[in-house]
Amino acid sequence: RQTKEPKPEWLKIKLNAGDGYQELKGMMRGRKLHTVCEEAQCPNIFECWSQRTATFMILGKVCTRACRFCAVTSGMPTELDLEEPRHVAQSVQEMGLKHVVITSVARDDLNDHGATMFAATITAVRHLNPLTDIEVLIPDFGGEPDRLAVVLNAKPNVLNHNLETVRRLSDKVRAKAKYDRSLSLLQAAKALRPGQTTKSGLMVGLGETKDEVVEAMSDLRKAGVDIVTIGQYLQPTPKHIAVHRYYHPDEFKELKEAGMALGFAHVEAGPLVRSSYHAREQAESAKAA
Ligand code: SF4
Ligand code: SF4
Repeated sequence: RQTKEPKPEWLKIKLNAGDGYQELKGMMRGRKLHTVCEEAQCPNIFECWSQRTATFMILGKVCTRACRFCAVTSGMPTELDLEEPRHVAQSVQEMGLKHVVITSVARDDLNDHGATMFAATITAVRHLNPLTDIEVLIPDFGGEPDRLAVVLNAKPNVLNHNLETVRRLSDKVRAKAKYDRSLSLLQAAKALRPGQTTKSGLMVGLGETKDEVVEAMSDLRKAGVDIVTIGQYLQPTPKHIAVHRYYHPDEFKELKEAGMALGFAHVEAGPLVRSSYHAREQAESAKAA
């Protein structure tokens, strides 16, 4: 069922192109940088970049999966760019980032699903930017703990893997992923590297009930997850899965309270919250918890 409601006020973004944003935009020009911030036309770009947080996409722009909410092109990806770790590291340095999020398309075509490139990118970024916090937002690596271990051995500050939606809607929303496989991956991260900060994210507005969202949060807590993000799903194009309804900002507050009661170190919930929104603040508050 598709909502007939017009987009509510709180989802209309006030553009505030601050100095930090303009400066970074200037640096980007002429360089071959892929940030999710720009390519996904993320509504938070001015705020995040002004606060020196950005999300890079590695392993190309073509995904082997085709989740029904996602605007990334799906198909057969091209070969790997072995210079990518170095380029990302240099970009992080040029942008003066305090917190970088590194993510990728799903590369089910590669033997290691891209785990080695994640590890190489973490290592290269840290080498040039020892003070920058590094968060990786990983695909499920086919649920293989060996691939996950390769990434964890490079010691990311935060290991993030999104559950995306509640159990009942998972097959419909992300057909090639599995709800329990994602939970097992998060649980394995804690077992393989005790003390590793872990994080996950959910979208709302896809037809789930609030109780189901709380149940998903509870499943994440059982997998030892420290940080959860919850944001409104917005349909990228009319071909993507429809928005079932818009949550009111007060409902996000309710979900945040429910999450905190479940014992998360940090819950970031709001209409425009994306996985990497306020990522630095999330990681800091999880460290303090
Ligand atoms: Fe970039 Fe994430 Fe911020 Fe959006 S929320 S601008 S993708 S860092
Ligand atoms: Fe998009 Fe990730 Fe799904 Fe690929 S695996 S379609 S990048 S959400």
